[in-house]
Amino acid sequence: MSLEDLYKEIILEHYSKPRNRGDLPGADVSIDLKNPTCGDEITLKLDFDQDRVADVRFQGKGCSISQASASMMTESIKGRSREQVLDVLRRVQGMMRGEISAEEADLGDLEALAGVRQFPVRIKCAMLAWEALSKGLDPSRAPGESPGSEADR
Ligand code: ZN
Repeated sequence: MSLEDLYKEIILEHYSKPRNRGDLPGADVSIDLKNPTCGDEITLKLDFDQDRVADVRFQGKGCSISQASASMMTESIKGRSREQVLDVLRRVQGMMRGEISAEEADLGDLEALAGVRQFPVRIKCAMLAWEALSKGLDPSRAPGESPGSEADR
């Protein structure tokens, strides 16, 4: 199996069996993002336990890459500290910008997203969930410091 086929298989597997898909009532952070280029949508909900991502869920619709990427993202951050999550985020961003290779990024299944780099339009699809995550980690949205994520849309 070629690397490209392996990447496709990982993405399709996450698309058909998304992890952490659903609502998370009362979540500390809720982010809505759209990718107008492709029509992808995502709602990302994060629950923090002090500095740790205690729980995460996403809902959305769109192309297989956007939804698979969201599933892979949630799987990679659940239970991790804010610092660890930021580290994964930076490596994914670097890999998708072509600043580092998939091997250098050392991200396991997430390296499958690198297969999208050859289709520039698709990079936005792959990065939608990660942009939502980036916004969700913004300290200004930290639990206890904002009156509720529903209010600031
Ligand atoms: Zn898309």
